[in-house]
Amino acid sequence: MATYRDLLAQTKDEISEVDAAQAGALAGAVWVDVRELDEWQEGHLPGAVHVPRGFLESRIEQVAPDRSQEIVVYCAGGNRSAFAAKTLQELGYEHAHSLVGGFTDWKRNGLEVVVPRTLSPERRTRYSRHLLIPEIGEAGQLKLLDSKILLIGAGGLGSPASLYLAAAGIGTLGIVDADIVDETNLQRQIAHSLDTLGAPKVDSAKRAINALNPDVNVVTYRERLTSENIDRILDDGWDLIVDGADNFPTRYLVNDASVWHDIPVVHGSIYRFEGQVTVFKPKEGPCYRCLFPEPPPPELAPSCAEGGVLGVLPGIVGTLQTNEAIKLVAGIGESLVGRLLLLDALAIDFSEVRIERNPDCPVCGDHPTITSYIDYVEFCAR
Ligand SMILES: [Zn+2]
Repeated sequence: MATYRDLLAQTKDEISEVDAAQAGALAGAVWVDVRELDEWQEGHLPGAVHVPRGFLESRIEQVAPDRSQEIVVYCAGGNRSAFAAKTLQELGYEHAHSLVGGFTDWKRNGLEVVVPRTLSPERRTRYSRHLLIPEIGEAGQLKLLDSKILLIGAGGLGSPASLYLAAAGIGTLGIVDADIVDETNLQRQIAHSLDTLGAPKVDSAKRAINALNPDVNVVTYRERLTSENIDRILDDGWDLIVDGADNFPTRYLVNDASVWHDIPVVHGSIYRFEGQVTVFKPKEGPCYRCLFPEPPPPELAPSCAEGGVLGVLPGIVGTLQTNEAIKLVAGIGESLVGRLLLLDALAIDFSEVRIERNPDCPVCGDHPTITSYIDYVEFCAR
């Protein structure tokens, strides 16, 4: 009966072994790391793909469908990869090579290695239901953790958005709101509670987010958004704005600033039983002013949100906005750019209207006529 040493020697006789220089000269070679996950995570060769030895037979075809292509397999020292090369031969791969000395020699010789970013065990557990979705996975979760989203308003729309974005592991959440929590808010603004009555909404929301997920860095702006402060706030660097504003002056301010700062806006608005959601992405679709170039005159303005709204409606609209935000950050799915989603909660009817960039838009059009911020006077037809 052959010992391990005999078997290894025999295997090495039957396969091709290459050193780093020879391997580097192989044109178009696929580099396969057959070590275990913990070894891979401590560093690997640039451009290599990870297929642990135990999964080699079942996964190699996905990595290298062409059996005539050059394949370089490596492990820590060159023994496991010798057996792996033998297996590849048996699977019909004509040019499988084992890297002599493996990762250890490669690193010792000062050649380039890559240390992959990975999630800690705690984060693997917290985000396990995201990791199980191929469209998100570890790479997508890292994108969420790296992202910075600015919420305009911590009220009806901002409450569900802030909680679900926090739960999803958005790395940095900015919140702009000047208001204080009062009892009339609690019918719908679920980030707040009896415990935070009288507190600034940004502090109340921050408390709720911190209690939910310590991964999230919350940046609060306890101020009303104006032409004076909007550039300063946006210059803090945001990937995306979730607009939960309940008034026209803020909505126009956010729109104009987002075009000039080139930041996509996930827009949501609510009125009694009706909601609207869309994404305004500069250069790729319309902006808010493409649809409504100017605010309505005060006598035609609809009531402010305080005029009445079904409590769950901002929950529905705010979570639809959150869905768009997560998709945009993760780079998956089809966004609502160029599509205005209309919902009627009373009939439970969803419909969609196509919206296009207006070349005559005063802000994002071909010949803009508005080039500086306008502070509209707030009005509410109560
Ligand atoms: Zn526009």
